[in-house]
Amino acid sequence: MASVEQVPAAAKNGTNPGIPVENPATGETIATIPTLSTAEVKALVGRARAAQPAWEAIGFEERGKVLRRAQKWVTDNSERIIATIVSETGKTYEDAQLAEIMYAAAAFGFWAKEAPNLLADEPVKSANPLVKGKKLVVRYRPVGVVGVIGPWNFPLTNSFGDCIPALAAGNSVILKPSEVTPLTSLLMAEGLRASGLPEDVFQVATGDGATGAALIDEVDFVMFTGSTKTGKKVMERAAKTLTPVGLELGGKDPMIVLSDADVERAANAAAYYSMNNGGQVCISIERVYVEAPVYDQFVARVTEKVGKLRQGRSSGPGSVDVGAVTFPPQLDIIDSHVRDAVAKGARVLTGGRVADGPGMFYEPTVLVDVDHTMSCMTEETFGPTLPIMKVADADEALRLANDSPYGLQASVWSKDLRRGEALARRVEAGTVCVNDAQVNYTALELPMGGWKTSGLGTRHGAGGIRKYTQQQTLLVTRFAGKRDPHMFPYKKRTTQLLGKLTRLLYGRGKRD
Ligand code: NAD
Repeated sequence: MASVEQVPAAAKNGTNPGIPVENPATGETIATIPTLSTAEVKALVGRARAAQPAWEAIGFEERGKVLRRAQKWVTDNSERIIATIVSETGKTYEDAQLAEIMYAAAAFGFWAKEAPNLLADEPVKSANPLVKGKKLVVRYRPVGVVGVIGPWNFPLTNSFGDCIPALAAGNSVILKPSEVTPLTSLLMAEGLRASGLPEDVFQVATGDGATGAALIDEVDFVMFTGSTKTGKKVMERAAKTLTPVGLELGGKDPMIVLSDADVERAANAAAYYSMNNGGQVCISIERVYVEAPVYDQFVARVTEKVGKLRQGRSSGPGSVDVGAVTFPPQLDIIDSHVRDAVAKGARVLTGGRVADGPGMFYEPTVLVDVDHTMSCMTEETFGPTLPIMKVADADEALRLANDSPYGLQASVWSKDLRRGEALARRVEAGTVCVNDAQVNYTALELPMGGWKTSGLGTRHGAGGIRKYTQQQTLLVTRFAGKRDPHMFPYKKRTTQLLGKLTRLLYGRGKRD
């Protein structure tokens, strides 16, 4: 558990009341963290700004060394990090290991290796005769101070993870973790210090939404992961200072099971990718559309698998399958979606209620006879529920899948890969998997980001680091006379020659 020693100095002097951090699997208060005020956030950003030029100046190789040491620190300290994550989220050991530790360890190595390639100067050739012989270059320069604001569902991967490429690019970073799960971020600050990161290049600003809002006013780029509702507020606030934002927001990922799917694999995937991390994954399978011929078989297989899941407080590897609901209000949202569905005619095949305490748990739940009048099919549930709907054919499935304000991810299941991929290309989502789900997130080479109200911009891939830079174009004239022909004074003959040149270059296009 994080101690008060891990809290930034400014935070310890904070005048605002502290926020208690609870273990959702037990209900115990495990720490109290300070809420940084606007003035304290300003002070952190001032220190970050002062530290940044030296961090930028040491270059990719030296920054890469720090990141590789941090990678080793994560693997050396994995049990301690897992214990911290499990204690503040209530998730299972496995959910912390696979989706957090493995991600962070891979990400440190990936960005250390790829940052110099993805941010290298790009020589450009132009066909325009006016710039012939000149040196043309696009280069990427760190923005300065990046503010990362994160959610509670993956404190390491989704909060801290976005800091790694920002640091690799040469920025200072201030992380505002969720007030529900701040301890992992404080532990990572310790890890980066132990890995030789210079003082003030990475700092944690603990606090609530007001602390996050204060951070937006001060930084040069805001990387926000959280709900669509807060994402809109973040963008509005950032507009006041014209600060660019990256937004990774909510989702309602559809799964489309076609009649020629491998039903057993699809059922295993549906059970796992809807219930892992207690269903609190932005790219969780949140709703399923199954073609009529395989509907009964699919529902029976999924219900059997979900019904057997072991839920409870994780006491180590292999102890439980589904953990707690991390955020107290989320329990009510999950239950209200199930109640709303049942009131409108849905049937609960397994689960369907808040589990008995201590701790906050919702039983792994399968719902059928659902439709789009129900919130469980249209709003983000973010819990261990799986509503399954029968459809006549692929076109109906596609229409319903696209009938959503969200567009984060989706999956299509078919043994006919050509048919599956053709359908995938028609789904309105930033990522679509065929015969799979979620694993795209582990491929850091692949851009990941939402369409519609699921976000703006991408993480991972080239865009996942270039967003933390300012693109600068350089034009260097090496060989030139005292005056170029197009300069003042204008002369009739030169103007006529330029006209001729324009016709010669561009006037030969075919007329219809
Ligand atoms: P949230 O929007 O409630 O909070 C996210 C963060 O924003 C927290 O740190 C919070 O303190 C801060 N915040 C709140 N108000 C703010 C304001 N006015 N200005 C600045 N910051 C403010 O989200 P949450 O409940 O923590 O997380 C769950 C949501 O996150 C779900 O919708 C989920 O889908 C989404 N999510 C998306 C991704 C993705 O990659 N697209 C990943 C993980 C989670």
